[in-house]
Amino acid sequence: MMKKIGLLTSGGDAPGMNAAIRAVVRTAIYFGMEVYGIERGYSGLIDDTMTRMEMRSVSDIVQRGGTRLRTARCLEMLTEEGQKTAVSTLERHGIEGLVVIGGDGSFRGAKCLTENYGIPTIGIPGTIDNDLEYTDYTLGFDTAVNTCLDVINKLRDTMNSHERISVVEVMGRHCGDIALYTGITSGAEIIVVPEITYDMDSIVKRIDLSRQNGKHSNIIIVAEGACSADEFAKQLQAVTSYSVRSTNIGHIQRGGSPSMADRMLAAQFGNKAVRLLKDGIGNRVVGIRKNEIIDMDIIEAVSMKKRFNYELYETLQMISM
Ligand code: ATP
Repeated sequence: MMKKIGLLTSGGDAPGMNAAIRAVVRTAIYFGMEVYGIERGYSGLIDDTMTRMEMRSVSDIVQRGGTRLRTARCLEMLTEEGQKTAVSTLERHGIEGLVVIGGDGSFRGAKCLTENYGIPTIGIPGTIDNDLEYTDYTLGFDTAVNTCLDVINKLRDTMNSHERISVVEVMGRHCGDIALYTGITSGAEIIVVPEITYDMDSIVKRIDLSRQNGKHSNIIIVAEGACSADEFAKQLQAVTSYSVRSTNIGHIQRGGSPSMADRMLAAQFGNKAVRLLKDGIGNRVVGIRKNEIIDMDIIEAVSMKKRFNYELYETLQMISM
């Protein structure tokens, strides 16, 4: 059985990372393993900043956003020299396996450690973007969408009073999921996502129709990967007589206390990751599919292309008028 494991958070932070850290540490200690918290993602492996974590090192963090191990984007990890330094740090400390909590990029780092250097590594999908195909949900996505909904509830009040159109920018990098889920659950009439080319004429027609049908305001959710809210609002204002305002939710959607759904994922992902390592299984990522916690080959997982859910998009089109 593996005796010593390492744990890091990498890439963009996401609510629920702390709850996952807690689950990993507590499960490892339950099985009598030592667990080392590596700081600032892969940077901590390269410059050897890690501390042993105990039961109480993870007290009072289940409800906190961010990551207490801190996170970083580490360019050195992209070089062979950086990777070798990272591996020698692990060897020097006798760390036999690694848990990496992060997004797509972080998984590529994990895949590299596993594939090229034989270090058993388990990936936990921690990103608000929900941009990984192999899992239905990533950790942090639910909380981020809930934060967007809070903002939009407030915007609705003022937009309705002034009979305006609100253009709201959400995150997601190249993925439209935050916009799609926020759009459906906030009642937005239109979403603009990187997966679908938008046509301003039909957007204006849709807005006009909604006003004829008795609406007094409109919400348009724009994913950052498609356009900025400012730019989109400018384009729209040029072709409509309704007053348009833009709001960029920005980094607010990355913070805050994780939702029940994210804490539940964190508990299950963290627990599963350590159970796999305990049994000597590495080179896997954990996820959730059809409400079941799953694990799959890390190389296969990172090579899967994220698909957009067109059915949900059509649902939005049908119910938001
Ligand atoms: P998010 O999607 O939330 O931004 P992410 O994990 O995709 O998170 P990235 O910045 O893409 O964020 O990656 C995080 C880190 O993973 C990089 O800074 C780098 O240290 C490491 N990494 C990324 N790609 C590779 C790779 N091909 N080989 C080795 N390490 C990598």
